[in-house]
Amino acid sequence: MGVIAKIKEDKPFIFNITNEVASNFAANGLIAIGASPAMSHTPREAKDYGEIADAVVLNLGTLTEDRGEAMLKAGKAANENGIPVILDPIAVGGTDFRTNIINEILTTVKLAAIRANAGEIAVLAGTLDEAKGPDSIIQENDPEIAKTVAKKYDTVVISTGEVDVVTDGERIALCKNGHEMLQNITASGCLLSSFVGPFVSVVDDFYEAGIYAVTSYGIAAELAMEKAAGPGTFIPALLDALYFLTDEKVEKYKQVQEL
Ligand code: ATP
Ligand code: MG
Ligand code: MG
Repeated sequence: MGVIAKIKEDKPFIFNITNEVASNFAANGLIAIGASPAMSHTPREAKDYGEIADAVVLNLGTLTEDRGEAMLKAGKAANENGIPVILDPIAVGGTDFRTNIINEILTTVKLAAIRANAGEIAVLAGTLDEAKGPDSIIQENDPEIAKTVAKKYDTVVISTGEVDVVTDGERIALCKNGHEMLQNITASGCLLSSFVGPFVSVVDDFYEAGIYAVTSYGIAAELAMEKAAGPGTFIPALLDALYFLTDEKVEKYKQVQEL
């Protein structure tokens, strides 16, 4: 059975501690692909949801003390139950508050994948001091930098940009699907981080899961732009394209180069 078919059959439960900007869009995107999302950020529910989810997504946008505490609780609960955890370390290096919480997550929670833009990945690698804000400040997406981070934290790294890099520290794939219109709407990266959740829940090899997730997402963006006139109509068109996405379309349109 294909990966997307499996997601539609399993309806994996994806627990997201994500930000105020992305929450609605990420939930809709997850429903469109066939997953079942929960969005909650109170520390009081984090352990319970972390124990029963099929994947947990920790997104550092609009960070608060509560969200930070909830992420650590959910991440640890997921680890204890063998549930994959995805981290989106938004604007790491930008402020001490978020950098400290990101470092605590990185050192206490075992991650299935880190999904971030190339600038944030460079900060995690130590080759760039600060991400400044949520937007990537570097254009080139260096596979070797992503590989360094994958090895450092023993995880899959999904480093996004014009070309997306997926690596587990040994294998490297360049994923070339996608559309620049993704840069003209908010939370396209946040939705992608949540979107990785259902894929790691049904594909045991998280490197393969990462490739399939970014490729599917990129193809949906390409198909959406066949219908959209601009950023406003791109948002619903992307949800439509995710809803109608199939394994056959992914097979037909995928552009993946393994190094
Ligand atoms: P967000 O603004 O939601 O935090 P991000 O900065 O974390 O996003 P991006 O690197 O912007 O993440 O990636 C979001 C999506 O946009 C990905 O699917 C990525 O492939 C795509 N993307 C990023 N840069 C480009 C580009 N220059 N051309 C085409 N697609 C791009
Ligand atoms: Mg961006
Ligand atoms: Mg981001």
